[in-house]
Parts: sequence; structure tokens; C-alpha cells
Amino acid sequence: MMLRRHFLRTSALALGAAPLTSLFSKQFNALLAPQITMIRDNVGFYTNRGGSIGLYLPAGKPEGGAVIDTQFPEQATTLLEMLRDQGQLTQLSLLANTHHHGDHTGGNGVFADLAKDYVSHARAQKNLADNLKKNDREGSMPLPKTTFTTDWSMALPDGKERVTMKHFGPAHTGGDAVIHFEQANVAHLGDLLFNRRFPYIDPGAGGDIINWASVMKKIRKHYDRDTVFIFGHAAESYAVTGTSEDLKAFENYLNYLRKYVKKAKKAGTSIEALQAKTTTIPGAPEWRFGERMRNVNLQVMYEAL
Ligand SMILES: [Zn+2]
Repeated sequence: MMLRRHFLRTSALALGAAPLTSLFSKQFNALLAPQITMIRDNVGFYTNRGGSIGLYLPAGKPEGGAVIDTQFPEQATTLLEMLRDQGQLTQLSLLANTHHHGDHTGGNGVFADLAKDYVSHARAQKNLADNLKKNDREGSMPLPKTTFTTDWSMALPDGKERVTMKHFGPAHTGGDAVIHFEQANVAHLGDLLFNRRFPYIDPGAGGDIINWASVMKKIRKHYDRDTVFIFGHAAESYAVTGTSEDLKAFENYLNYLRKYVKKAKKAGTSIEALQAKTTTIPGAPEWRFGERMRNVNLQVMYEAL
């Protein structure tokens, strides 16, 4: 506990005026031991540092698996070593990204050569290419080979599973994909859901904080009550997996945020005054982690309304 508090405090101090993207990658890095957790029917997830990685590991076969998102190079390498120690993973059928952010794609280079197909939403591929260019890192990482705009699907070679990727409209970014293992009925949401923590929002990459709530509703209607969702991030002591109940709760957070900011703006409250007086959003008290992001949420909503 002390260790974590210390970590958070020193991170916040060290960051100073760091750009949001690097704040983002550091803020969500819990000090967790690298761990693979299976959910059901060969589908599981890996947590270390960065956004949760989704996994399909066909029983007893080192080939034909899938990796969804890749955290950072070091964490991706640790995962690859863990899988190889277990005799799993000499070749992948699929590497896919839920969106372009560095804490979900930084390790793409570790898995890209092992994967027969490498897929993202078209806007995520563009966002990734733009980011690499902006940071003078063009060519440092292979880009997704296959892109889609609404739907994409493939059957995995063990004959037991189908992966379907679907875009429900701009939300966290303009290129978000929900990646569903149909048979297991497990869906990776990437950063479409921050479990009980203030979300990062990226309007510069096509994100839309107003549309986000309706995207959550569409997702809730499209999958079912038995679907297990993997979340990109969660507040300390909250899980990175959950159900449609958690989707509904996050949708509520976004709706209450909109209502709250709209009312304040109408009353002539400045963004600075609103940020100064807000600790939680009325109606969504469970969202109380990630203070800096709370201010960003207020500001992006304020500007969008
Ligand atoms: Zn993200």
C-alpha cells in the first residue's frame, strides 16, 4: 500500500508538464506482477503494465492463438516468454489492437512477426502511424496489415472459435474496436470502459465524449448478459473484467458528466471554477480515481457542449 502511494506521488511529481499521452501511460501503470488469468474456453487476459491484453490460447497447441493489444515492448516480451515457458505460442493466427494508444500497442513489434494476420480499425492504424510520425519513430513498428471500418471476422484454425471485431462509432478514440471471441462469449473493450476510474479521452484522435454514452448503450444491446467483458483499465481494487452491469454504470457516468457540465456551463460557471469545485460527478460517486483525468473529462465535455 505504501509502495503504491509512493509510486503515485512520485509519478505525479516527476511528470510536471508532461504531455497527456505520457501522463496516460504512466498514470495507469499499476505495480502488478505479470499474470495470465484464464476466463473460459481458452480465452484469458494478461495484466502487467498498460492496458489489459486479451489472449486466445488453443488447448495443447503452440499455434493458432490470438493476442489482443500488447502493452509496452518490455511487458509484451515478458508475456511471450511466459507463453513459451508453458509450451504455448510459436505462431499466432491473429494480432489485433482495440485502438492505437501506446499502452495498448507499444509491444506490437514483439508479436507482429509471429502473427498470420495483424488487424485494427482503419482509423486506429492511421492514428498509430500519425503518432509514430509525430514522435520521429516512423518505421520503428510494423503497422496493422489488415484494417476495417465497421466489422471484421475470422475463424481460428482449431475450429472452435471465431473472432469478430466491431466498431460502434467514435468514443474513446475514432478507431475503437470491440473484439469478441464468440464461442467463449468474451469481448475485449479496450479503453471503451474504464472500470470505476475517470477515463482518458482523445478528441485529437477522433474521440467523442458526447457520443461515447450512446456507443456504450449500443455495445450493451449487441452483446448479452452472459458476455464477459475485458476492460483496458480499472481503478485500484476493481477488476479488469466484468459484465453488462459495468457497461451500464460507465454509461451512467458519461451521461451524468454531460448533464453536470451542461448545467454548470449554462449557469455561467467557468471551466476553472468547475474543476476547482468538483470531486465526483453527482450521480456517479464510484468514479473518484484519477484526479487529473477528472479535470480532463470536465474540460473536454465543457468544450464539446
Ligand atoms: Zn486508450
